[in-house]
Amino acid sequence: MKYNAIENYINGQFVAASSARTMEVISPVDGNLLSTVPMSTSKDLDAAVIAAKAAFPAWSKMPIKERVQVFFRYKTLLEKNLEELAKLCSEENGKTYGEAIAEIEKCIELTEFATSLPQLITGELLEVSKGVECRTEHVPLGVVASIVPFNFPSMVPNWTIPNAIALGNCMIMKPSEKVPLSCGRLAQLLKEAGLPDGVFNIVHGDVEIVNAICDHPAIEAVSFVGSTKVAKIVYQRATSNYKRCLALGGAKNHLMVLPDAKEDMTAANVVASMSGCAGQRCMAASAMIGVGNVDAIIDKICVEAKKIIPGENLGAVISKESKERIEKYISEAEKDGAKILVDGRNIKVKGKEQGTYVGPTVIDFVKPTMSVATEEIFGPVISIMRTNTVDEALAIENANPYGNAASVFTQNGGMARYIIDKASAGMIGVNVGVPVPREPFSFGGWNESKFGVGDITGKSSIEFWTKLKKSTIKWNPEAGVNWMS
Ligand code: NAD
Repeated sequence: MKYNAIENYINGQFVAASSARTMEVISPVDGNLLSTVPMSTSKDLDAAVIAAKAAFPAWSKMPIKERVQVFFRYKTLLEKNLEELAKLCSEENGKTYGEAIAEIEKCIELTEFATSLPQLITGELLEVSKGVECRTEHVPLGVVASIVPFNFPSMVPNWTIPNAIALGNCMIMKPSEKVPLSCGRLAQLLKEAGLPDGVFNIVHGDVEIVNAICDHPAIEAVSFVGSTKVAKIVYQRATSNYKRCLALGGAKNHLMVLPDAKEDMTAANVVASMSGCAGQRCMAASAMIGVGNVDAIIDKICVEAKKIIPGENLGAVISKESKERIEKYISEAEKDGAKILVDGRNIKVKGKEQGTYVGPTVIDFVKPTMSVATEEIFGPVISIMRTNTVDEALAIENANPYGNAASVFTQNGGMARYIIDKASAGMIGVNVGVPVPREPFSFGGWNESKFGVGDITGKSSIEFWTKLKKSTIKWNPEAGVNWMS
Protein backbone atom coordinates (compact mmCIF):
# COMPACT_ATOMS: atom_id res chain seq x y z
CA MET A 1 0.00 0.00 0.00
CA LYS A 2 1.19 3.53 -0.73
CA TYR A 3 0.97 5.98 2.17
CA ASN A 4 0.98 9.79 2.10
CA ALA A 5 4.34 11.50 2.53
CA ILE A 6 5.28 11.22 6.21
CA GLU A 7 5.31 14.35 8.37
CA ASN A 8 6.61 15.21 11.81
CA TYR A 9 4.15 15.20 14.71
CA ILE A 10 4.41 18.31 16.83
CA ASN A 11 1.97 19.65 19.41
CA GLY A 12 -0.71 17.14 18.42
CA GLN A 13 -0.55 17.93 14.67
CA PHE A 14 1.17 16.38 11.68
CA VAL A 15 3.34 19.09 10.16
CA ALA A 16 5.76 19.25 7.25
CA ALA A 17 9.45 19.34 8.08
CA SER A 18 11.46 22.46 7.27
CA SER A 19 13.84 20.62 4.93
CA ALA A 20 12.99 19.30 1.46
CA ARG A 21 15.44 16.42 1.96
CA THR A 22 13.59 13.08 2.11
CA MET A 23 14.31 9.37 2.00
CA GLU A 24 12.25 6.62 0.41
CA VAL A 25 10.55 4.09 2.66
CA ILE A 26 10.76 0.75 0.85
CA SER A 27 8.90 -2.37 1.95
CA PRO A 28 11.36 -5.26 2.36
CA VAL A 29 8.47 -7.65 1.65
CA ASP A 30 8.30 -6.85 -2.08
CA GLY A 31 10.49 -3.82 -2.71
CA ASN A 32 7.50 -1.48 -3.17
CA LEU A 33 7.75 2.19 -2.31
CA LEU A 34 5.59 2.82 0.77
CA SER A 35 6.19 6.52 1.36
CA THR A 36 8.85 9.15 1.86
CA VAL A 37 10.21 10.32 5.20
CA PRO A 38 11.55 13.83 5.84
CA MET A 39 15.08 14.45 7.07
CA SER A 40 14.27 17.11 9.63
CA THR A 41 16.60 19.86 10.80
CA SER A 42 17.35 21.37 14.20
CA LYS A 43 14.63 23.96 13.40
CA ASP A 44 12.02 21.16 13.47
CA LEU A 45 13.51 19.81 16.69
CA ASP A 46 13.29 23.28 18.24
CA ALA A 47 9.58 23.42 17.40
CA ALA A 48 9.01 20.02 19.00
CA VAL A 49 10.97 20.99 22.12
CA ILE A 50 8.99 24.23 22.46
CA ALA A 51 5.74 22.24 22.29
CA ALA A 52 7.01 19.65 24.80
CA LYS A 53 8.25 22.34 27.20
CA ALA A 54 4.91 24.12 27.04
CA ALA A 55 3.02 20.90 27.79
CA PHE A 56 5.29 19.87 30.66
CA PRO A 57 4.00 22.02 33.57
CA ALA A 58 0.38 20.83 33.32
CA TRP A 59 1.26 17.22 32.47
CA SER A 60 3.86 16.83 35.21
CA LYS A 61 1.62 18.38 37.84
CA MET A 62 -1.24 16.01 37.09
CA PRO A 63 -1.27 13.21 39.71
CA ILE A 64 0.19 10.02 38.28
CA LYS A 65 -3.06 8.16 38.96
CA GLU A 66 -4.70 10.53 36.46
CA ARG A 67 -1.85 10.36 33.96
CA VAL A 68 -2.01 6.57 33.74
CA GLN A 69 -5.69 6.77 32.76
CA VAL A 70 -4.41 7.75 29.30
CA PHE A 71 -2.46 4.50 29.18
CA PHE A 72 -5.42 2.37 30.25
CA ARG A 73 -7.21 3.83 27.20
CA TYR A 74 -4.11 3.53 24.98
CA LYS A 75 -3.86 -0.16 25.90
CA THR A 76 -7.49 -0.68 24.85
CA LEU A 77 -6.79 1.15 21.57
CA LEU A 78 -3.72 -1.01 20.89
CA GLU A 79 -5.94 -4.07 21.41
CA LYS A 80 -8.67 -2.65 19.17
CA ASN A 81 -6.21 -1.76 16.39
CA LEU A 82 -3.97 -4.83 16.83
CA GLU A 83 -4.44 -6.19 13.31
CA GLU A 84 -4.02 -2.86 11.54
CA LEU A 85 -0.87 -2.06 13.54
CA ALA A 86 0.54 -5.52 12.84
CA LYS A 87 -0.11 -5.15 9.12
CA LEU A 88 1.68 -1.81 9.04
CA CYS A 89 4.58 -3.20 11.07
CA SER A 90 4.97 -6.18 8.77
CA GLU A 91 4.74 -4.02 5.65
CA GLU A 92 7.45 -1.56 6.68
CA ASN A 93 9.76 -3.95 8.55
CA GLY A 94 9.36 -7.16 6.54
CA LYS A 95 8.61 -9.46 9.49
CA THR A 96 5.79 -11.98 9.14
CA TYR A 97 2.27 -10.99 10.11
CA GLY A 98 2.38 -13.47 13.04
CA GLU A 99 5.59 -11.90 14.33
CA ALA A 100 4.06 -8.45 13.96
CA ILE A 101 1.01 -9.53 15.97
CA ALA A 102 3.38 -10.74 18.71
CA GLU A 103 5.14 -7.36 18.58
CA ILE A 104 1.91 -5.42 19.15
CA GLU A 105 0.93 -7.84 21.94
CA LYS A 106 4.22 -6.97 23.61
CA CYS A 107 3.34 -3.25 23.26
CA ILE A 108 0.12 -4.03 25.14
CA GLU A 109 2.08 -5.77 27.91
CA LEU A 110 4.49 -2.82 28.16
CA THR A 111 1.58 -0.41 28.44
CA GLU A 112 -0.07 -2.60 31.06
CA PHE A 113 3.10 -2.28 33.12
CA ALA A 114 2.97 1.52 32.87
CA THR A 115 -0.55 1.53 34.28
CA SER A 116 0.87 -0.06 37.44
CA LEU A 117 3.43 2.72 37.98
CA PRO A 118 1.38 4.51 40.69
CA GLN A 119 1.79 1.37 42.81
CA LEU A 120 5.54 1.29 42.16
CA ILE A 121 6.65 4.87 42.67
CA THR A 122 5.36 5.53 46.14
CA GLY A 123 8.15 7.34 47.98
CA GLU A 124 9.55 6.63 51.43
CA LEU A 125 8.87 8.42 54.68
CA LEU A 126 10.53 8.03 58.07
CA GLU A 127 10.58 9.97 61.30
CA VAL A 128 14.38 10.28 61.45
CA SER A 129 14.41 11.99 64.87
CA LYS A 130 11.68 13.26 67.18
CA GLY A 131 9.36 15.47 65.10
CA VAL A 132 11.59 15.35 62.01
CA GLU A 133 10.56 13.44 58.88
CA CYS A 134 12.50 12.61 55.76
CA ARG A 135 10.54 11.75 52.63
CA THR A 136 11.37 11.00 49.03
CA GLU A 137 9.42 11.44 45.82
CA HIS A 138 10.10 10.63 42.16
CA VAL A 139 9.96 13.81 40.09
CA PRO A 140 9.81 13.83 36.25
CA LEU A 141 12.80 15.19 34.36
CA GLY A 142 11.12 17.43 31.77
CA VAL A 143 11.61 17.04 28.00
CA VAL A 144 13.19 13.70 27.13
CA ALA A 145 14.09 12.00 23.85
CA SER A 146 13.90 8.44 22.56
CA ILE A 147 15.88 7.32 19.50
CA VAL A 148 14.91 3.91 18.14
CA PRO A 149 16.06 1.28 15.58
CA PHE A 150 14.32 -0.42 12.65
CA ASN A 151 13.85 -3.93 13.96
CA PHE A 152 10.79 -3.35 16.18
CA PRO A 153 8.88 -0.36 14.72
CA SER A 154 6.28 -0.42 17.52
CA MET A 155 7.75 -2.39 20.42
CA VAL A 156 10.99 -0.47 20.97
CA PRO A 157 9.17 2.91 20.91
CA ASN A 158 6.82 1.40 23.48
CA TRP A 159 9.75 0.44 25.69
CA THR A 160 9.96 4.17 26.44
CA ILE A 161 6.66 5.91 25.58
CA PRO A 162 4.34 4.57 28.33
CA ASN A 163 6.85 4.63 31.19
CA ALA A 164 8.54 7.96 30.45
CA ILE A 165 5.25 9.75 29.79
CA ALA A 166 3.25 8.16 32.63
CA LEU A 167 6.07 9.25 34.95
CA GLY A 168 5.34 12.85 33.91
CA ASN A 169 7.84 13.60 31.15
CA CYS A 170 7.17 15.04 27.68
CA MET A 171 8.82 13.17 24.83
CA ILE A 172 10.46 13.70 21.46
CA MET A 173 10.56 10.41 19.52
CA LYS A 174 13.06 9.90 16.68
CA PRO A 175 11.92 6.81 14.75
CA SER A 176 14.17 4.81 12.46
CA GLU A 177 14.07 6.37 8.99
CA LYS A 178 13.69 2.82 7.63
CA VAL A 179 10.39 2.17 9.48
CA PRO A 180 8.84 5.56 10.25
CA LEU A 181 5.17 4.70 9.69
CA SER A 182 4.22 2.81 12.86
CA CYS A 183 5.23 5.66 15.21
CA GLY A 184 2.84 8.05 13.45
CA ARG A 185 -0.02 5.65 14.06
CA LEU A 186 1.00 5.33 17.73
CA ALA A 187 0.84 9.14 18.00
CA GLN A 188 -2.75 9.10 16.69
CA LEU A 189 -3.71 6.44 19.23
CA LEU A 190 -2.10 8.38 22.09
CA LYS A 191 -4.11 11.44 21.09
CA GLU A 192 -7.30 9.37 20.86
CA ALA A 193 -6.50 8.05 24.35
CA GLY A 194 -6.56 11.63 25.62
CA LEU A 195 -2.87 12.51 25.79
CA PRO A 196 -2.63 16.34 25.77
CA ASP A 197 -0.99 17.95 22.74
CA GLY A 198 2.75 18.48 23.06
CA VAL A 199 3.35 15.63 25.51
CA PHE A 200 4.39 13.27 22.69
CA ASN A 201 6.11 14.53 19.53
CA ILE A 202 7.85 12.88 16.59
CA VAL A 203 10.77 14.33 14.66
CA HIS A 204 11.90 12.18 11.74
CA GLY A 205 15.38 12.16 10.32
CA ASP A 206 18.85 10.69 10.40
CA VAL A 207 22.19 11.47 11.98
CA GLU A 208 21.60 15.25 11.80
CA ILE A 209 18.55 15.09 14.04
CA VAL A 210 20.17 12.60 16.44
CA ASN A 211 23.09 14.97 16.88
CA ALA A 212 20.70 17.88 17.40
CA ILE A 213 18.89 15.88 20.12
CA CYS A 214 22.17 15.13 21.90
CA ASP A 215 23.12 18.83 21.75
CA HIS A 216 19.77 20.42 22.59
CA PRO A 217 20.06 22.29 25.91
CA ALA A 218 16.39 21.78 26.83
CA ILE A 219 16.42 17.98 26.47
CA GLU A 220 17.16 16.42 29.86
CA ALA A 221 17.59 12.74 28.98
CA VAL A 222 18.21 10.62 25.89
CA SER A 223 17.42 6.96 25.51
CA PHE A 224 18.85 5.18 22.50
CA VAL A 225 18.40 1.69 21.07
CA GLY A 226 20.39 0.58 18.01
CA SER A 227 23.83 -0.63 16.98
CA THR A 228 26.82 -0.46 19.33
CA LYS A 229 28.66 1.86 16.96
CA VAL A 230 25.91 4.48 17.17
CA ALA A 231 25.13 3.76 20.85
CA LYS A 232 28.69 4.80 21.70
CA ILE A 233 28.43 7.99 19.61
CA VAL A 234 25.09 8.95 21.19
CA TYR A 235 26.16 8.07 24.74
CA GLN A 236 29.34 10.09 24.42
CA ARG A 237 27.68 13.10 22.80
CA ALA A 238 24.65 13.24 25.11
CA THR A 239 26.65 12.78 28.32
CA SER A 240 29.29 15.30 27.20
CA ASN A 241 26.37 17.74 27.10
CA TYR A 242 25.57 16.71 30.72
CA LYS A 243 22.43 14.75 29.85
CA ARG A 244 21.33 11.46 31.29
CA CYS A 245 21.74 8.76 28.68
CA LEU A 246 20.93 5.10 28.43
CA ALA A 247 22.14 3.62 25.13
CA LEU A 248 21.41 0.02 24.21
CA GLY A 249 23.65 -1.44 21.51
CA GLY A 250 24.06 -4.53 19.37
CA ALA A 251 24.55 -8.14 20.39
CA LYS A 252 26.17 -11.47 19.67
CA ASN A 253 24.18 -14.00 21.68
CA HIS A 254 25.60 -17.45 22.43
CA LEU A 255 23.61 -20.61 22.99
CA MET A 256 25.58 -23.30 24.79
CA VAL A 257 24.27 -26.78 23.99
CA LEU A 258 25.30 -29.61 26.30
CA PRO A 259 25.12 -33.27 25.26
CA ASP A 260 22.30 -34.02 27.75
CA ALA A 261 20.01 -31.36 26.20
CA LYS A 262 16.57 -32.54 25.04
CA GLU A 263 17.18 -32.95 21.33
CA ASP A 264 13.85 -31.94 19.78
CA MET A 265 13.18 -29.06 22.15
CA THR A 266 16.72 -27.71 21.74
CA ALA A 267 16.67 -27.93 17.94
CA ALA A 268 13.28 -26.19 17.77
CA ASN A 269 14.44 -23.43 20.15
CA VAL A 270 17.76 -22.83 18.41
CA VAL A 271 16.07 -22.47 15.03
CA ALA A 272 13.25 -20.29 16.35
CA SER A 273 15.79 -18.04 18.04
CA MET A 274 18.11 -17.65 15.05
CA SER A 275 15.38 -17.25 12.42
CA GLY A 276 12.58 -15.38 14.24
CA CYS A 277 12.12 -11.86 12.80
CA ALA A 278 14.64 -13.01 10.15
CA GLY A 279 17.36 -12.99 12.80
CA GLN A 280 16.94 -9.24 13.27
CA ARG A 281 16.42 -9.35 17.04
CA CYS A 282 19.00 -8.12 19.48
CA MET A 283 18.11 -11.29 21.44
CA ALA A 284 18.52 -13.68 18.50
CA ALA A 285 20.82 -16.67 18.81
CA SER A 286 23.72 -15.93 16.54
CA ALA A 287 26.38 -18.34 17.78
CA MET A 288 25.92 -21.86 19.13
CA ILE A 289 28.59 -23.65 21.08
CA GLY A 290 28.22 -27.41 21.09
CA VAL A 291 29.95 -28.89 24.13
CA GLY A 292 31.08 -32.50 23.51
CA ASN A 293 29.15 -34.59 21.02
CA VAL A 294 25.96 -32.82 19.98
CA ASP A 295 25.88 -34.12 16.38
CA ALA A 296 22.39 -35.56 16.76
CA ILE A 297 21.10 -32.13 17.87
CA ILE A 298 22.85 -30.40 14.97
CA ASP A 299 21.20 -32.86 12.54
CA LYS A 300 17.83 -31.94 14.02
CA ILE A 301 18.65 -28.23 13.82
CA CYS A 302 19.19 -28.69 10.06
CA VAL A 303 15.86 -30.52 9.72
CA GLU A 304 14.07 -27.74 11.60
CA ALA A 305 15.85 -24.99 9.63
CA LYS A 306 14.69 -26.55 6.35
CA LYS A 307 11.08 -26.18 7.54
CA ILE A 308 11.56 -22.38 7.57
CA ILE A 309 10.41 -21.04 4.21
CA PRO A 310 11.20 -17.45 3.17
CA GLY A 311 8.06 -15.50 2.37
CA GLU A 312 5.95 -17.99 4.36
CA ASN A 313 7.16 -18.47 7.92
CA LEU A 314 10.29 -16.34 7.47
CA GLY A 315 10.13 -12.60 6.83
CA ALA A 316 12.47 -10.42 4.80
CA VAL A 317 15.57 -8.64 6.07
CA ILE A 318 15.31 -4.87 6.13
CA SER A 319 17.12 -3.91 2.91
CA LYS A 320 19.15 -4.95 -0.11
CA GLU A 321 22.29 -3.78 1.72
CA SER A 322 21.43 -5.99 4.70
CA LYS A 323 20.87 -9.02 2.47
CA GLU A 324 24.22 -8.44 0.76
CA ARG A 325 26.00 -7.96 4.09
CA ILE A 326 24.55 -11.19 5.55
CA GLU A 327 25.36 -13.23 2.44
CA LYS A 328 28.92 -11.87 2.47
CA TYR A 329 29.36 -13.17 6.04
CA ILE A 330 28.22 -16.64 4.93
CA SER A 331 30.56 -16.65 1.93
CA GLU A 332 33.50 -15.49 4.05
CA ALA A 333 32.90 -18.32 6.55
CA GLU A 334 32.79 -20.82 3.69
CA LYS A 335 36.03 -19.43 2.26
CA ASP A 336 37.67 -19.69 5.71
CA GLY A 337 36.82 -23.40 5.95
CA ALA A 338 33.49 -23.54 7.80
CA LYS A 339 30.84 -25.93 6.51
CA ILE A 340 27.51 -24.54 5.30
CA LEU A 341 24.95 -27.17 6.33
CA VAL A 342 21.89 -25.15 5.35
CA ASP A 343 22.43 -22.32 2.86
CA GLY A 344 20.10 -19.31 2.72
CA ARG A 345 21.94 -17.35 0.05
CA ASN A 346 20.46 -16.29 -3.31
CA ILE A 347 16.83 -16.70 -2.28
CA LYS A 348 14.04 -15.28 -4.42
CA VAL A 349 10.44 -15.50 -3.30
CA LYS A 350 8.02 -16.10 -6.17
CA GLY A 351 5.82 -13.07 -6.77
CA LYS A 352 8.02 -10.96 -4.44
CA GLU A 353 11.19 -10.94 -6.50
CA GLN A 354 12.18 -7.48 -5.25
CA GLY A 355 11.76 -8.55 -1.60
CA THR A 356 14.97 -8.90 0.41
CA TYR A 357 14.96 -12.45 1.76
CA VAL A 358 17.74 -14.56 3.21
CA GLY A 359 16.94 -18.19 3.97
CA PRO A 360 17.82 -19.88 7.26
CA THR A 361 21.52 -20.69 7.34
CA VAL A 362 23.36 -23.19 9.53
CA ILE A 363 27.17 -22.96 9.51
CA ASP A 364 29.16 -25.68 11.28
CA PHE A 365 32.81 -26.00 12.27
CA VAL A 366 33.15 -22.27 12.77
CA LYS A 367 36.39 -21.16 14.45
CA PRO A 368 36.09 -18.63 17.32
CA THR A 369 38.22 -16.13 15.36
CA MET A 370 36.04 -16.08 12.21
CA SER A 371 33.89 -12.98 11.61
CA VAL A 372 30.68 -15.07 11.78
CA ALA A 373 31.75 -16.08 15.31
CA THR A 374 32.60 -12.65 16.62
CA GLU A 375 30.42 -10.07 14.81
CA GLU A 376 26.71 -9.31 14.90
CA ILE A 377 25.28 -10.65 11.61
CA PHE A 378 21.63 -9.60 12.16
CA GLY A 379 20.21 -12.21 9.81
CA PRO A 380 18.81 -15.78 10.08
CA VAL A 381 22.22 -17.37 10.49
CA ILE A 382 23.62 -19.61 13.24
CA SER A 383 27.37 -20.16 13.53
CA ILE A 384 28.21 -23.40 15.31
CA MET A 385 31.45 -23.80 17.22
CA ARG A 386 32.57 -26.96 19.05
CA THR A 387 34.34 -27.30 22.39
CA ASN A 388 35.19 -30.20 24.70
CA THR A 389 34.28 -28.49 27.96
CA VAL A 390 31.80 -26.00 29.39
CA ASP A 391 34.69 -23.77 30.52
CA GLU A 392 35.98 -23.56 26.94
CA ALA A 393 32.48 -22.60 25.81
CA LEU A 394 32.27 -19.95 28.53
CA ALA A 395 35.68 -18.60 27.53
CA ILE A 396 34.34 -18.00 24.00
CA GLU A 397 31.17 -16.37 25.32
CA ASN A 398 33.08 -14.22 27.82
CA ALA A 399 35.61 -13.06 25.20
CA ASN A 400 32.92 -11.52 23.03
CA PRO A 401 32.62 -7.76 23.58
CA TYR A 402 28.83 -7.80 23.57
CA GLY A 403 26.71 -9.05 26.49
CA ASN A 404 23.01 -8.94 25.72
CA ALA A 405 21.93 -12.57 26.11
CA ALA A 406 23.30 -16.10 26.57
CA SER A 407 21.48 -19.41 26.91
CA VAL A 408 22.25 -22.94 27.97
CA PHE A 409 20.42 -26.09 26.92
CA THR A 410 20.85 -28.89 29.44
CA GLN A 411 18.91 -31.09 31.86
CA ASN A 412 21.53 -30.59 34.57
CA GLY A 413 20.47 -27.95 37.10
CA GLY A 414 23.93 -27.58 38.62
CA MET A 415 25.49 -27.00 35.23
CA ALA A 416 22.78 -24.46 34.36
CA ARG A 417 23.48 -22.60 37.60
CA TYR A 418 27.23 -22.63 36.84
CA ILE A 419 26.61 -21.09 33.42
CA ILE A 420 24.21 -18.48 34.81
CA ASP A 421 27.01 -17.43 37.19
CA LYS A 422 29.82 -17.38 34.63
CA ALA A 423 28.20 -16.04 31.45
CA SER A 424 28.96 -12.39 30.80
CA ALA A 425 25.52 -11.24 29.63
CA GLY A 426 22.65 -9.31 31.16
CA MET A 427 19.90 -11.76 30.17
CA ILE A 428 20.35 -15.52 30.54
CA GLY A 429 18.17 -18.38 29.31
CA VAL A 430 18.01 -21.93 30.58
CA ASN A 431 16.35 -24.06 27.88
CA VAL A 432 14.99 -20.77 26.49
CA GLY A 433 16.30 -19.54 23.15
CA VAL A 434 15.17 -15.91 23.41
CA PRO A 435 15.44 -15.01 27.12
CA VAL A 436 13.61 -11.68 27.00
CA PRO A 437 12.47 -10.92 30.55
CA ARG A 438 8.71 -10.42 30.67
CA GLU A 439 7.22 -7.42 32.48
CA PRO A 440 7.77 -6.38 35.27
CA PHE A 441 11.35 -7.68 34.90
CA SER A 442 13.57 -5.19 33.17
CA PHE A 443 15.32 -5.45 29.79
CA GLY A 444 18.99 -4.62 29.34
CA GLY A 445 22.32 -6.20 28.47
CA TRP A 446 25.86 -5.78 29.69
CA ASN A 447 29.26 -4.82 28.26
CA GLU A 448 29.07 -3.28 24.76
CA SER A 449 25.35 -4.07 24.54
CA LYS A 450 24.47 -1.25 26.91
CA PHE A 451 25.98 2.06 27.99
CA GLY A 452 24.62 3.81 31.06
CA VAL A 453 23.14 2.72 34.36
CA GLY A 454 19.95 0.69 34.81
CA ASP A 455 17.66 -0.98 32.29
CA ILE A 456 15.23 0.43 29.77
CA THR A 457 11.99 -1.25 30.86
CA GLY A 458 10.38 -2.48 34.05
CA LYS A 459 11.00 -1.06 37.49
CA SER A 460 14.57 -0.12 36.57
CA SER A 461 13.29 2.49 34.09
CA ILE A 462 11.73 4.50 36.94
CA GLU A 463 15.19 5.60 38.07
CA PHE A 464 16.10 6.68 34.54
CA TRP A 465 12.95 8.69 33.81
CA THR A 466 12.73 10.46 37.20
CA LYS A 467 14.90 12.26 39.71
CA LEU A 468 14.57 11.81 43.43
CA LYS A 469 13.54 14.71 45.65
CA LYS A 470 14.46 14.29 49.33
CA SER A 471 12.69 16.49 51.88
CA THR A 472 13.54 16.88 55.55
CA ILE A 473 10.52 18.27 57.40
CA LYS A 474 10.09 19.62 60.90
CA TRP A 475 6.80 21.12 62.03
CA ASN A 476 6.70 23.52 64.91
CA PRO A 477 4.18 22.03 67.40
CA GLU A 478 4.44 24.99 69.87
CA ALA A 479 2.90 27.36 67.31
CA GLY A 480 -0.30 25.35 67.55
CA VAL A 481 -1.30 26.45 64.10
CA ASN A 482 -0.94 25.12 60.64
CA TRP A 483 -2.18 26.32 57.28
CA MET A 484 -5.55 24.71 57.87
CA SER A 485 -6.34 26.34 61.22
P1 NAD B 1 21.34 1.95 13.98
O1 NAD B 1 22.30 2.12 15.08
O2 NAD B 1 21.84 1.99 12.59
O3 NAD B 1 20.17 3.06 14.08
C1 NAD B 1 19.52 3.32 15.28
C2 NAD B 1 19.08 4.79 15.29
O4 NAD B 1 20.23 5.63 15.20
C3 NAD B 1 18.19 5.17 14.11
O5 NAD B 1 17.15 5.98 14.57
C4 NAD B 1 19.12 5.90 13.17
O6 NAD B 1 18.47 6.92 12.44
C5 NAD B 1 20.15 6.51 14.08
N1 NAD B 1 21.50 6.57 13.50
C6 NAD B 1 22.04 5.75 12.55
N2 NAD B 1 23.32 6.10 12.30
C7 NAD B 1 23.60 7.16 13.10
C8 NAD B 1 24.78 7.95 13.31
N3 NAD B 1 25.90 7.75 12.65
N4 NAD B 1 24.71 8.94 14.23
C9 NAD B 1 23.58 9.19 14.92
N5 NAD B 1 22.44 8.47 14.74
C10 NAD B 1 22.45 7.47 13.85
O7 NAD B 1 20.56 0.57 14.27
P2 NAD B 1 19.50 -0.17 13.34
O8 NAD B 1 20.21 -0.73 12.17
O9 NAD B 1 18.31 0.67 13.12
O10 NAD B 1 19.04 -1.36 14.33
C11 NAD B 1 19.73 -2.57 14.45
C12 NAD B 1 20.68 -2.56 15.62
O11 NAD B 1 19.97 -2.25 16.81
C13 NAD B 1 21.32 -3.92 15.87
O12 NAD B 1 22.67 -3.72 16.17
C14 NAD B 1 20.57 -4.45 17.07
O13 NAD B 1 21.27 -5.38 17.86
C15 NAD B 1 20.31 -3.20 17.82
N6 NAD B 1 19.22 -3.34 18.77
C16 NAD B 1 19.55 -3.46 20.08
C17 NAD B 1 18.56 -3.64 21.02
C18 NAD B 1 18.92 -3.81 22.47
O14 NAD B 1 18.01 -3.88 23.27
N7 NAD B 1 20.17 -3.87 22.84
C19 NAD B 1 17.23 -3.71 20.63
C20 NAD B 1 16.91 -3.56 19.27
C21 NAD B 1 17.93 -3.37 18.34
